[in-house]
Amino acid sequence: MNATKITLDENELPKRWYNIQADLPTPLDPPLNPATKEPATPDDLSAIFPMSLIKQEMSTDRWITIPEEVRDIYKLWRPSPLYRALRLERALKTPARIYYKWEGVSPPGSHKPNTAVPQTYYNAKAGIERITTETGAGQWGSALSFATRLFDLECTIYMVRISYDQKPYRRVLMETWGGEVFASPSDKTECGRKFLAETPDTTGSLGMAISEAVEDAATHDNANYALGSVLNHVMLHQSIIGLEMKKQFEIAEESPDMMFGCVGGGSNFAGAVFPYIGDVLRGEVGRDGGDGGESGDGDRYPKIISCEPMSCPTLTKGAYAYDFGDAAQMTPLLKMYTLGYRFVPAGIHAGGLRYHGAAPLVSKLTHEGYMDAVAYKQTDVFKSALLFVRTEGFLLAPETAHCVHGVIEEALRCRKTGEEKVLFFCGSGHGDFDLTAYDDYLNGRIVDPGDPTDAIRESLSKLPKV
Ligand SMILES: *Cc1c(COP(=O)(O)O)cnc(C)c1O
Repeated sequence: MNATKITLDENELPKRWYNIQADLPTPLDPPLNPATKEPATPDDLSAIFPMSLIKQEMSTDRWITIPEEVRDIYKLWRPSPLYRALRLERALKTPARIYYKWEGVSPPGSHKPNTAVPQTYYNAKAGIERITTETGAGQWGSALSFATRLFDLECTIYMVRISYDQKPYRRVLMETWGGEVFASPSDKTECGRKFLAETPDTTGSLGMAISEAVEDAATHDNANYALGSVLNHVMLHQSIIGLEMKKQFEIAEESPDMMFGCVGGGSNFAGAVFPYIGDVLRGEVGRDGGDGGESGDGDRYPKIISCEPMSCPTLTKGAYAYDFGDAAQMTPLLKMYTLGYRFVPAGIHAGGLRYHGAAPLVSKLTHEGYMDAVAYKQTDVFKSALLFVRTEGFLLAPETAHCVHGVIEEALRCRKTGEEKVLFFCGSGHGDFDLTAYDDYLNGRIVDPGDPTDAIRESLSKLPKV
């Protein structure tokens, strides 16, 4: 079948999210209270999260019903299309077949509203009036600003300084939906003032911005905090991507041999691949690793690969250890791959990938060999993004361009070997607000930052003792 686009009807929108915690061979290591280093209790988290989300965070139920109000909003852009990248295949002269799920169709332009909408819904139900958050590239801030508007909540966004300067129109977009945006570190919070005093010229980081947003929520009764990635309930909400995809691949009569996704905190990648890994964890599909051979009734376990930037190589160069989620040591300690909570990555354009940690679920499954990770240079990634926009037409977010680069490299390998593999990547978002980055690339101003190895070693030497 040579369809360009495989769509689903809105009544085929999944009614439940998939929770991979139900199928893990061993449970996750629990988050720890940062002061006592004892497992965090629901009460520890209730200062900044509603109990409904805390329950989802800890749940081991395999399926969790999507509230009707949330499904109604999802229908504004979901089910999202699965595309076959025929023109990219032709340009690469590859026998591989390339598919991608396109999350760029949401109003804010990425997968992030898949979780911003339910998180806002549960906070609204709990009587919360304002939600605080951080944003890197601005995709998460946009998603939360959009979602809070639909439920009539206020939204306060701490935007990483370098992105605030690089992407002024993202700020405007957040403001059109009614969000209030501050460049982080800011003078609005105690920890922000401290970061500014220590490093007045800092580019900021997601770790610092998270500290500011958490402090703001923890010190105001009517406010809660929302995180756009990393946490288990975010991975849960994003499973909508993979659940839709499974139906779409069935229609296409294909199944992926290799799946690629870019990883910042890991949520779009997890959303796409966890429903597939779940089949293996439950023993329904054989796990023969390698290049995804055939097993059972023709079901195959794909090779799964996360793609990250060389300047923030969390999964490829990080330690698998307990660490803080933020720079000011306010969040619970999470067991994850980390570059160290004080690590400040170089100011690459893929702001959404500049996070020192990664989701505990993605970390554990990577650690246990269910998937692999690779890291790419910024210049290579933009070269692939340009080939993509010139063949498929969509301008990709610089984040997304990382996994497109992975797919293109593999497709070129297939050209040499003649293998007709089915390759997939998760199209996490469009780059319509990343034009400064593309301008820089087209005019030869994109460079690769220096090797971060020494900075990583230094920062890993300061991991909290547990
Ligand atoms: C935020 C973002 C990412 C990185 O976050 P994950 O949680 O790893 O998905 C990737 N792509 C886009 C377009 C984003 O907005």
